[in-house]
Amino acid sequence: MKTTKQEYLPGRGRGLFPGSFDPFTKGHDDIVRRALGLFDEVIIGVGYNEQKPGWMSVEERVAAIRKLYADEPRVTVVSYTGLTADFAKEHGATAIVRGVRTMADYEYEMQMADVNRQLTGIETVFLPASPELASLSSSLVRELAHFGRDISAFLP
Ligand code: ADP
Repeated sequence: MKTTKQEYLPGRGRGLFPGSFDPFTKGHDDIVRRALGLFDEVIIGVGYNEQKPGWMSVEERVAAIRKLYADEPRVTVVSYTGLTADFAKEHGATAIVRGVRTMADYEYEMQMADVNRQLTGIETVFLPASPELASLSSSLVRELAHFGRDISAFLP
């Protein structure tokens, strides 16, 4: 019987990459592109808090990220408020994806992953930050912008 290799591949599902992305940096882009190697689809969930307006509005963040992945039909960008666990369940996520840069990230992420698994049964996949991007954070970019520095080298 003639079959293609594709037919033997198990469904790899839908990864949810949640974050504030205020702003979306080269570090975030690296995680999305690597997650596309693991999942059929990647949903970028842009989390916001009505009580705490961000540096960029949630609409601006969503628009910028959508533009970035305009040619990648496997990426969807959606904003959400509330618990990541509820959002993951609503969108049928196979797994939650998070990037880990430091031990501090790791400790926090372990707790979140455990809570999210207890609430929904959905596992979290950690991707280690690429070494050349491991010092990059949205807060650093905001700080540099605040002091009038050029932030373009940090944005995808
Ligand atoms: P949150 O407020 O949920 O931490 P962020 O937008 O700061 O949202 O980060 C979203 C995710 O991206 C987190 O898992 C974070 O660890 C990861 N991340 C942020 N910057 C980098 C980077 N430079 N390299 C790899 N992962 C990163």
